[in-house]
Amino acid sequence: MGKLVVNQEKVVNIDDIIKICPFGALENNKGQLDINSSCKMCRLCVNKGPKGAVEYIEDEEIVEIDKSKWNGVLVYVDHVDGEIHPVTYELIGKARELANKVNHKVYCIFIGDNIKEKAEELLHYGVDEVMVYDDAELKHFRIEPYVSAFEKCIDSIKPSVILVGATTVGRSLAPRVAARFRTGLTADCTILDIKENTDLVQIRPAFGGNIMAQIITPNSRPQLATVRYKVMNPPTRNEEKSGKLTLCTINKEELKSKSKVLKVVKKEIEVSIADAEVLVVAGRGVKSEKDLELINELATLLEGKVAVTRPLIENGWATAKDQVGLSGRTVRPKLIITCGVSGAVQFTAGMNNSDYIFAINKDENAPIFKVAHYGIVGDLYKVIPNLIEEIKMAKEA
Ligand SMILES: Cc1cc2nc3c(=O)[nH]c(=O)nc-3n(C[C@H](O)[C@H](O)[C@H](O)COP(=O)(O)OP(=O)(O)OC[C@H]3O[C@@H](n4cnc5c(N)ncnc54)[C@H](O)[C@@H]3O)c2cc1C
Ligand code: SF4
Repeated sequence: MGKLVVNQEKVVNIDDIIKICPFGALENNKGQLDINSSCKMCRLCVNKGPKGAVEYIEDEEIVEIDKSKWNGVLVYVDHVDGEIHPVTYELIGKARELANKVNHKVYCIFIGDNIKEKAEELLHYGVDEVMVYDDAELKHFRIEPYVSAFEKCIDSIKPSVILVGATTVGRSLAPRVAARFRTGLTADCTILDIKENTDLVQIRPAFGGNIMAQIITPNSRPQLATVRYKVMNPPTRNEEKSGKLTLCTINKEELKSKSKVLKVVKKEIEVSIADAEVLVVAGRGVKSEKDLELINELATLLEGKVAVTRPLIENGWATAKDQVGLSGRTVRPKLIITCGVSGAVQFTAGMNNSDYIFAINKDENAPIFKVAHYGIVGDLYKVIPNLIEEIKMAKEA
């Protein structure tokens, strides 16, 4: 980690430099330019300020690594009791694409109990090798033994890139694995690419979604990234299998854990907005909680679900699991109808991959129309009842 150094003699106009910082981290302290604790190390002041006024200095000497010793893209197989989470297939699709660019192999790591048969399924998706850690001690997800198995797998294949689904398990596992290897991890990537030198280009919204940050890990391996469900495309299942399963063993000592699973209580299954094929989203254009009934009527008619923007969660009109966006869920339905939603970048980041986006907004300049495939400029209180009537008539016909 580096540090910022202010060279006061190169500061020409202190007030002009202060304006560069979007976080209010630069201050005029009796004519001296100071950096306070709000600094996010974005380095805008270094790049946009007068040359040399603020300098970024690396603390540690950068040790060059031999990237050629790290080969392959490894995907963590997310599952519960051997039932593979679909994010895994999405990651395998992306892994194949990245691996082909640098001529690497695609590996999977599957950790669990009695999972060999389930692991066979992965061979229908163009994986080169599935490393299976099958042990009764690995039946339930417990962090220490899972990290140990992961570490063993990394030590044996030395993958350049590791992709993990941003599920509850993935979000807990990936940072610990990254810490063991003293390497970087980028959470919730929305785009992934790879350079010829095998540096993974990890792209994700940053600073409240106002910029898309490109993050690389040029001085360490492996490179870890988590990706949310429904962000990448799953590959088509091949009839034929390819690749191989490798049964891996792990020392009993390494399977020890301080946690003991007493009981597993299954959650009631409900359709998450992330799984719905049709979503009708209510935004702040919906004036009262009662008016959500109108949105619900449209959603029910289309056999879909109601979702909301963040202000409605803040009003207490819906629960957080129904929020679409950067700090909510990423969704990719076949059809999404937004009603009174402005289309802030933090919202669209969670839905702009939907198949058909249909927006209703009374402001013709609302940014939502930039991502919508179809739009109606109008008052939702007039448009939606008409739409409901039309759909009913069409259904009856
Ligand atoms: C770090 C961070 C994370 C965030 N994460 C999220 C997130 O995950 N999800 C999210 O939604 N937001 C998120 N936000 C908030 C986001 O920036 C916006 O404030 C929010 O999305 C706005 O919601 P909205 O479109 O419902 O409301 P508004 O922006 O207020 O828009 C309301 C729209 O309704 C239209 N309208 C009003 N009346 C009518 C009518 N009668 N008929 C038709 N149209 C009408 C208006 O023209 C307007 O365009 C986040 C913000 C930050 C800083
Ligand atoms: S590095 Fe970024 S956050 Fe820190 S003082 Fe400079 S502009 Fe502000």
